[in-house]
Amino acid sequence: MYNFLYYGQKTKPRVPWFFENSKLPVILSYLAPIDIYAIAFGPWVWCRGILDDATRNHETIHYHQQLELLFIGQWILYVFYWLKGLITYRDGEIAYRQSPFEREAYDNDQNLDYLKTRKPYAWRHYREDDKEST
Ligand SMILES: [Zn+2]
Repeated sequence: MYNFLYYGQKTKPRVPWFFENSKLPVILSYLAPIDIYAIAFGPWVWCRGILDDATRNHETIHYHQQLELLFIGQWILYVFYWLKGLITYRDGEIAYRQSPFEREAYDNDQNLDYLKTRKPYAWRHYREDDKEST
């Protein structure tokens, strides 16, 4: 049976299904506060063009964030943190960049080995309140 929580081997982390040259990010960009190049949702990732290594890694980090929160938990928290950021910054794009899920992904997408050593729920350490307390 397919196990959604299976993380894969440490040497080869589980990856989502990638769909390149997709129209979906273009369509979603009309609704979103940012111009979407690639989006991870459930076990799928859609990209406008061809994914480079860092973007592929970025979206795979989002995939692992969703896995550990049983997908629905990440979607709810993602919206929660975005709304929280919107109230704080009154700017949709800043709110997006300040989300702990995006901060973890942007901080680590250049490190292609990140997912081999990433601890579950690592995004927690990218919350605003964590930053303020240190
Ligand atoms: Zn992202």
